[in-house]
Amino acid sequence: EIDKNLIQNSIRDVKDFPKEGVVFKDITTLLNNKEALQTLINHLEDRYKSYDLDYICGIDSRGFIFGSILADRLNVGFVPVRKKGKLPSTTVCEKYELEYGYDEVEIHLDAFPKKNPRVLLIDDLIATGGTAAAAAKLIKNVDANLIEACFILNLTFLNGVKKVKEHTPVYSVLDI
Ligand code: IMP
Repeated sequence: EIDKNLIQNSIRDVKDFPKEGVVFKDITTLLNNKEALQTLINHLEDRYKSYDLDYICGIDSRGFIFGSILADRLNVGFVPVRKKGKLPSTTVCEKYELEYGYDEVEIHLDAFPKKNPRVLLIDDLIATGGTAAAAAKLIKNVDANLIEACFILNLTFLNGVKKVKEHTPVYSVLDI
């Protein structure tokens, strides 16, 4: 069993970032803590080693960090979902709503060279679920099998999991 206190205590609350009234969950203090980072990655490796995955797909930008480490551990490839305008080749795009306005995420059309691949989606944190739901749609739109969406932190009071569960099963390490 994972020591959830070790992980939780390694994550820092930063008040009024990126704007006043917001308490930002800062995972840089998890990343610079080797015991916490190894405990987390060991736990994810243990969970997913039997899933027969072909790719880990990480969301821009903190999902890249956890996703890349896990992909290496599981001996599979890594695929980025990025904010609009960052990917150089032909992309598929998905819009999603924010509190004010909207944002867009993209994936390369040829992101998964293997046919019918088994894909895990990962990000550091789920809030409203808008970003992860859009990423889930992208993965399906390029003909991949989304097996699960994984988050280190789930801000439960925002109910984002409900939105993502319309597309795929959801796993979160810490529910706060
Ligand atoms: P959602 O689309 O509302 O679920 O927001 C989730 C996205 O915003 C993820 O890509 C997170 O990395 C990012 N995010 C939102 N709030 C926080 C936070 O407090 N700490 C770190 N990332 C956050």
